[in-house]
Amino acid sequence: MKAKIVTLPGDGIGPEVVTAAIEVLAAVCNKFGYEYELDEQLIGGSALDVAGSSLPEATLKACRQSDAVLLGAVGGPKWDDPNASDRPEKGLLGLRKELGLYANVRPVRPHADLSKASPLRADLLEGVDFTVLRELTGGIYFGEPRERRQENGLTLALDTMVYSDAEISRAAHMAFRLAQGRRGKLTSVDKANVLESSRLWRQTVTQVAEDYPDVELEHLLVDAAAMHLLTRPASFDVIVTSNLFGDILTDEASVLTGSMGNLPSASLGEDLNQFGQPRGLYEPIHGSAPDIAGKGVANPVGTINSLALMLRYSLGWEDAAAAVEQAVDVALSDGCRTVDLAADGEKSLNTTEMYAEVVARIN
Ligand code: NAD
Repeated sequence: MKAKIVTLPGDGIGPEVVTAAIEVLAAVCNKFGYEYELDEQLIGGSALDVAGSSLPEATLKACRQSDAVLLGAVGGPKWDDPNASDRPEKGLLGLRKELGLYANVRPVRPHADLSKASPLRADLLEGVDFTVLRELTGGIYFGEPRERRQENGLTLALDTMVYSDAEISRAAHMAFRLAQGRRGKLTSVDKANVLESSRLWRQTVTQVAEDYPDVELEHLLVDAAAMHLLTRPASFDVIVTSNLFGDILTDEASVLTGSMGNLPSASLGEDLNQFGQPRGLYEPIHGSAPDIAGKGVANPVGTINSLALMLRYSLGWEDAAAAVEQAVDVALSDGCRTVDLAADGEKSLNTTEMYAEVVARIN
């Protein structure tokens, strides 16, 4: 079966890292004899410029008809006007919502040879291997009302953090199943000492836990979790948390790996594709990095590892997924470094050289 893959390069370094992943896809499919077709579509700021919308109808249609979607990044100073009615990030949030992608899975597994690139001591990084499941289509990023209004001569701005038990429950079930396939430990992160939505979160996760007696459940407040991620990162197996907390904690967790340019993600829902697998959206966790866009130095590893997740979760091509991950691991072990990973005095590769090293190790 031929896989239908939509690519959404987006803005800033997005096109640079997506190009890298496409080259790796070509190499690995050639090696294992898999067939695919690519359909490039617009999203974010570049879509606003060309089509007048951050999520054009054609993009949404193509994604709905695809088996999987590979995205670079969206956003940039050009589209930062706070009064604009449409913004690049709105396109991405809308896509996740429209595709029903309620779970964002982010594996964090620092490469042993990159410990110098991490601000954490090497002994703290030993054995770190966890996955964060961030709820993606609820919480404060979507809650209504969200508005500015004038009251008694003051300008007020408000957002709404809202969760239903059903939204929490489906994310929790996916997280417990992930933990069952790993070391059997789940940490649920909330702010139940202050927030009503977090009290419902904790109560619902505790109820769902009854279906998974083989998984050990731990609850942490988000402020404590932020600290424990730095003091005992190796103790985590699977972390489940809300949209806002997950957004922040995964950026923090990314520095354990040396650079946020390394971290992949998979956004999954319940819709199945022609392979009978979830139709996912795969993207690195970093943004469009306007400070380095166009220089050809972006680290493509997060996007290449996102491609590996796509091969595994949406296409079921485990041999190809493992080959990509192994090629990245070996390239890093062999000393290949982009500028964000290179220690002082170490030689760095540009984006093209870095993906060529990965392709060479696949071939
Ligand atoms: P960012 O992730 O774009 O960059 C943060 C820092 O990390 C920068 O110094 C950047 O150069 C560096 N960096 C990021 N990815 C890198 C890579 N692959 N290789 C090397 N260095 C890398 O975050 P930001 O600067 O806060 O945001 C920039 C824009 O991206 C904003 O418009 C923001 O809204 C948007 N954004 C988009 C997404 C997304 O598309 N999913 C996520 C976060 C931010």
